[in-house]
Amino acid sequence: MTKIIDGKKRSEEILADIKEKIDINKLKPCLAIILSAVDEASKIYVNNKITAAKKVGIETRLISLSNNVTAEEILKELDKLNKDSFVNGIIIQLPLPSHIDSSKIIDAVDSKKDVDGFSPYNVGRLAAGIEGFFVPCTPLGVLDLIKQEDTNISGKNIVIIGRSNIVGKPLAQLLLKQDATVTICHSKTHNLKFHTLNADIVICAAGKEKYFDKSYFNDNSFVIDVGISREESGAICGDVDFDSINGFIKATTKVPGGVGPMTVASLMKNTLKAYFIQNEY
Ligand code: NAP
Repeated sequence: MTKIIDGKKRSEEILADIKEKIDINKLKPCLAIILSAVDEASKIYVNNKITAAKKVGIETRLISLSNNVTAEEILKELDKLNKDSFVNGIIIQLPLPSHIDSSKIIDAVDSKKDVDGFSPYNVGRLAAGIEGFFVPCTPLGVLDLIKQEDTNISGKNIVIIGRSNIVGKPLAQLLLKQDATVTICHSKTHNLKFHTLNADIVICAAGKEKYFDKSYFNDNSFVIDVGISREESGAICGDVDFDSINGFIKATTKVPGGVGPMTVASLMKNTLKAYFIQNEY
């Protein structure tokens, strides 16, 4: 039997906890979302965030900009949000249109409102192993899910497949802080299976539809599937071939219903934290 770690259920527990804190203390957190690239996936992700915010009592402000917006126009909107004392958290929905230098925009988010944890201050603090204001949402959600199954990861061999700035790298820093032994693999890694077969936990964040089958894992593997891809049929799937690993490995998350809802729940957690930081609780 492969144990399924249920991210949807866990995210609902986190959201219920946030709602209770907001209701009892009559808090009024507010999350602003800047959306400019109008790809379908971004719209769906933003809708999911707005729905979750509504559920827990976080107000949202959606700033929808056209696909041909200039960097200066986004920076102007951002400046207003940075200065607005009612706005606690700000996210820039990525990807931005290709003519915009995303790093220039992300760098301009006030680090105390940077609930995605992508601004230089928060990235630098995490890399240095010092507490910053915010840790990126997907790594936070992954760590929570790992702890559902394995409460002591100190010294464990954890392999992360993927080295992006939003998943692989910050996740590695977060897990190092928990004393895990972390290996980051990527598309140029030689003999990937050598690493995955010898790991206690494998986190797949390559963005490759159903790419990792049971030959990458052993019967004691614990796998977290971060990937989100859309199959030709329109169905959502992850990086892991679930049918191949199910019944063979020890435990896994599933897509959908695994890391995705946890990312959204972590964003709500960070937004509430932003409210506390700005109101000096
Ligand atoms: P990304 O920026 O495209 O990075 C993918 C990483 O995987 C790169 O480091 C790449 O290596 C590596 N890679 C690709 N193919 C590989 C292979 N065959 N073997 C080993 N490594 C390989 O993607 P991302 O933004 O990190 O996202 C990764 C996946 O997670 C996507 O499916 C995305 O949709 C999903 N995602 C999900 C959530 C969630 O909430 N569930 C959040 C964020 C992202 P190189 O660096 O060498 O190119």
